[in-house]
Amino acid sequence: MKHDDRASAELLEVLELTREFFEREKTRGLQNISMSHETWTALETAVEKAHVAAQQKHTTQKDAARKDIVSKDVALLLRDISALTSGCEKCHLAQTRTNLVFGQGNPNAKLVFVGEAPGADEDEQGLAFVGKAGQLLTKIIEAIKLKREEVYICNILKCRPPGNRTPTTEEIACCMPYLMKQLEAINPPIICALGNVAAHTLLNTTAPMNRLRGRFHKFGQALLMPTYHPAALLRNPDYKKFVWEDVQMIQKEYEKV
Ligand code: SF4
Repeated sequence: MKHDDRASAELLEVLELTREFFEREKTRGLQNISMSHETWTALETAVEKAHVAAQQKHTTQKDAARKDIVSKDVALLLRDISALTSGCEKCHLAQTRTNLVFGQGNPNAKLVFVGEAPGADEDEQGLAFVGKAGQLLTKIIEAIKLKREEVYICNILKCRPPGNRTPTTEEIACCMPYLMKQLEAINPPIICALGNVAAHTLLNTTAPMNRLRGRFHKFGQALLMPTYHPAALLRNPDYKKFVWEDVQMIQKEYEKV
């Protein structure tokens, strides 16, 4: 027990004993307890406050312990899903990949970014969003006062399509169960779909990005914000103002959850 905890426990005990002493003396008929009504009330209030503080501390400790267990559970679950994907040969991208890119980040993230598929750098390193587009994504995350380690980052496809071509419907259908398992495990309240492939796949639509972005869509229990892919921003800096608007909306929502 820490020094502060021991001191409050001792204080609570002294207050309890003092109150019990006076209660006992009163029942024995002692008339002349030289204590004013105010002092008696103050003593009772002090005991009550000490009880409430002790209870609050206990609840906070229990909540922290529960959070810790949940966090470890999700991390283990993600590790299991990752093990399930490793060596996957469900589509022909298995033959051309260097590394499978599962995704990475905080298992307890309140915000998950979902991109399209690994690029050359990601394929090389086995990590999501580590190339130029990834560096831009880091800046976007930091612009809304978050750190990369606080969010989770992954893609619709776990393997790189050769030459970064757009994923086919068949590849997406083969790979989606992995992403769905990841999202189910993390259960984030906010998802940001980066680019057309992620937005179209997750929202089951073919509407253009300029009609999808700028507002949240329901995705199960989560709110999903579609926005332009960082790689599209590198090609077309005019999109920056739209992405900025979208991530500011995410930031506002993030502060509420
Ligand atoms: S892209 Fe997905 S489904 Fe295809 S081999 Fe890679 S992990 Fe398996």
